[in-house]
Amino acid sequence: MPANGTSTNPGLSFTSGHNDPVWVRSNPYTSWPRFKKLSEDLETHTVITGAGVAGISTAYELVKKGVQVVLLEAREVTSGESGRSNGVLGDWLGMKWQDIIKLHGIENTRSIHDSHRYAIRRAQEIAKELNIECDFTQLPCHISLADKDDLSKEIEAYSNAAGPTRAAEALDEVRASDSKTFKVTDCATLHPTKYLHGILRYLSDNHSDLFSCYTHTRVKAYKGDGNGVSIEIDGRSCSIKAKNFVMAMNVPIRSRTYIMANAYYRTYHIANTIPKTEALEHIVTGLTSILGFTTSVASHPDPNLVYLIVTGGRHKTAHIDIEYYEPHFATLKEWVFRNFPTANTVPEFSWSSQIVDSNDNLAFIGREKPGTNIFVITGDSGTGFNYGVIGAKILSDQITGVKNTWENVYDASRKPKSKLLDQEIEKVHLEELIAKSREDRYAAIDIEELPPCTGAVISKDRTQHGMPLAIYKDEEGKTRQFTGLCTHAYGVLMWNPTEKTFDCPLHGSRFDSRTGRCVFGPANAGLKPDDDAAREAAALSVEI
Ligand SMILES: Cc1cc2nc3c(=O)[nH]c(=O)nc-3n(C[C@H](O)[C@H](O)[C@H](O)COP(=O)(O)OP(=O)(O)OC[C@H]3O[C@@H](n4cnc5c(N)ncnc54)[C@H](O)[C@@H]3O)c2cc1C
Repeated sequence: MPANGTSTNPGLSFTSGHNDPVWVRSNPYTSWPRFKKLSEDLETHTVITGAGVAGISTAYELVKKGVQVVLLEAREVTSGESGRSNGVLGDWLGMKWQDIIKLHGIENTRSIHDSHRYAIRRAQEIAKELNIECDFTQLPCHISLADKDDLSKEIEAYSNAAGPTRAAEALDEVRASDSKTFKVTDCATLHPTKYLHGILRYLSDNHSDLFSCYTHTRVKAYKGDGNGVSIEIDGRSCSIKAKNFVMAMNVPIRSRTYIMANAYYRTYHIANTIPKTEALEHIVTGLTSILGFTTSVASHPDPNLVYLIVTGGRHKTAHIDIEYYEPHFATLKEWVFRNFPTANTVPEFSWSSQIVDSNDNLAFIGREKPGTNIFVITGDSGTGFNYGVIGAKILSDQITGVKNTWENVYDASRKPKSKLLDQEIEKVHLEELIAKSREDRYAAIDIEELPPCTGAVISKDRTQHGMPLAIYKDEEGKTRQFTGLCTHAYGVLMWNPTEKTFDCPLHGSRFDSRTGRCVFGPANAGLKPDDDAAREAAALSVEI
């Protein structure tokens, strides 16, 4: 059944959850650029894996420098978190600038700020140069703090990071915010999928000699290093040889450092219609407030209306019980009705998505280790649209032998700036896993009583082979069952009732409940089918 009456999303091919983001209203899946699967051996200069903002932007910058690129995507283009973000380009990092200065020092902080300003300018330039109609709108941003006494210190820290030309201004009481707020200028919003599809169409139409893209083509493994890389494709006998390999898949495969240095959170969005005359002429974001909300606006087919997007609430992936998922939407709705009484009562779109927080709030961008030709962009920390654009600049410079000003700050081989040693982080994760695998986390429900379109993970004691099972009951009441263990580090999965996926509490991997397909790493293989119905569904998902 089409979600929101707009389009279908078989096997979560177009987006990583059951709920569509607001962006499909003006850019339905049926209008998305489509590419074929890879079915032959190839040789190229640079392979990029992952067609989100990081992969597509990197492909663009490299092709503009004359580099031959093959872009590979496991599902459809922009089916990852890029298509579910709220399309805001700002110069904040989800953390106070005072804390960033403490953590990274003032010189690095200036570089960080400079790179985020670059991201906003570069996205605007690209949208303009390629004539992409993606609603790019420059707006000021109102940033509110949890503690009023922090305001003057934060404004000083911002000015210190941003330099004398960019003043931040304290605001008195403003609607939809409060007096602990300051304003910065020249942030922006855009329609994420229209922007990225515009780049892909430009590359396909104008640079077919240098650019090719293959979808439904999952990179399974890679071998090699400084002298070239050989890349293996899942389920097919073809492979690719390349000089460079860029992992822009949000969470890179095989890399323990990034997996351990990142934490995985779910966040929630709603989009309500409001009269255009009521729309805020600024973005609102909250730093360290309980809700941590952000608001922005998307265009509506009725020219007198707009969608107000409100984002907020977060919890570690699969670390809450199922009854606590939906209340996140209720909190957002309350906020909307308090501040926008004219909003329609039922949000037209409600969806959730995943953030990958690095433990020093900075992305990892660059060579996986010194001397290698394997590159990564990961650890988006909620500002990953910016990091996709910044990462594209750093990697395209590194790949073409140009020194980049920000490469040391984002160095992907840096030791995570954590008080915890790697092993200790792992121990904490393992303890969490054990805690989350307790018997009382399993569904107590009898499968016969499971409502249609619902899933559950049941205890190994209730199965014949002693493995937990992830069971999904479809709209016709037929069940299919998969092994209830993540295919990455064997965490016991949890049912996510909002997005109808099975999620792993250990490192945030996620799986479609209907096909078992992996929709978020670090897992890189689908769930193991445990009955004929699941085997059939899994086989079909390979054909999608
Ligand atoms: C609620 C929310 C709101 C956000 N809002 C903003 C915002 O306003 N501004 C901002 O700057 N950032 C925002 N972010 C962060 C931002 O959306 C993400 O960080 C960013 O989109 C990640 O882009 P990406 O290209 O790295 O990954 P993705 O967009 O997730 O793309 C990765 C792609 O790799 C593919 N893939 C994975 N494994 C393989 C494989 N083995 N082989 C082939 N392909 C593979 C996936 O299918 C996917 O399509 C938000 C995030 C969330 C969760």
